[in-house]
Amino acid sequence: MRLPDYHTHTARCGHAHGRPDEYVAAAKARGLTGIGIADHLPLLPEPDPELSMGVCDLSDYVADVQALKAEFPGYVLLGVEADYRPQTVSEVRSLLEGHPFDYVIGSVHHMGEWGFDDPRQLDEYGRRDIDDVWVEYFQLVGDAAESGLFTILGHLDVVKKFGYRPTRALTSELDHLVARVAAAGVLVEINTAGLHRPVKEAYPTLDILRRLCDAGVPITFGSDAHRPEEVGRDFGHAVELARSAGYAGFASLESRPGEGRAGIGSVPFEASPA
Ligand SMILES: [Zn+2]
Ligand SMILES: [Zn+2]
Repeated sequence: MRLPDYHTHTARCGHAHGRPDEYVAAAKARGLTGIGIADHLPLLPEPDPELSMGVCDLSDYVADVQALKAEFPGYVLLGVEADYRPQTVSEVRSLLEGHPFDYVIGSVHHMGEWGFDDPRQLDEYGRRDIDDVWVEYFQLVGDAAESGLFTILGHLDVVKKFGYRPTRALTSELDHLVARVAAAGVLVEINTAGLHRPVKEAYPTLDILRRLCDAGVPITFGSDAHRPEEVGRDFGHAVELARSAGYAGFASLESRPGEGRAGIGSVPFEASPA
């Protein structure tokens, strides 16, 4: 697949498998045009060894991926997936500023203390109004977009992961979210991991992608691989989804060493089917 995969993890986060170099080798074997390693930034304020690397592991992570960038210039990018939680914005900002990340994927995995996409915390769905959950989630994603911390918003509608759908269309909430995302100038990924979760759909859903396309929000592709063999998984499907939503191409990231975050380019889809 002639696409880069910007969302991959490594064993450092405590719930994935494989070294960064194994992910790079997998990307090359699949014919991807690039790979970004974007493991979980240490979760704040309380680290959880099953959810992310510890603060003390961060410089080793950066050094490992920097070495791969040097070995495969223009092919490997140093990314990271950071949690958006309102109470940790300034701490996350200083962690991010202390390292030369090419890009940062911003993800919402928590509403307050509730890790709503954590299979260990499913019971909470039974105690909540599902529409309120979605509305609160959209609000947090919009806040994440506007925080200025992130290059790409991760798995935009991951709140659907376990199949809990809202009971109404949430049209105005969605319009508001898309307007906030577009105004903030962040990218949105098509994340294929959802196809392998109970919801069995990529993130975000076609309806949301159509709105994002209409609003001019560029997209990237991410497998959210937690094993090297998952790199680039279902990207053919992702491209079909993007085309159905109206996209004619995608955003590519170009490392600018010493100049902060990567530059953003635009690449048309190939004329032939992916
Ligand atoms: Zn993970
Ligand atoms: Zn995530």
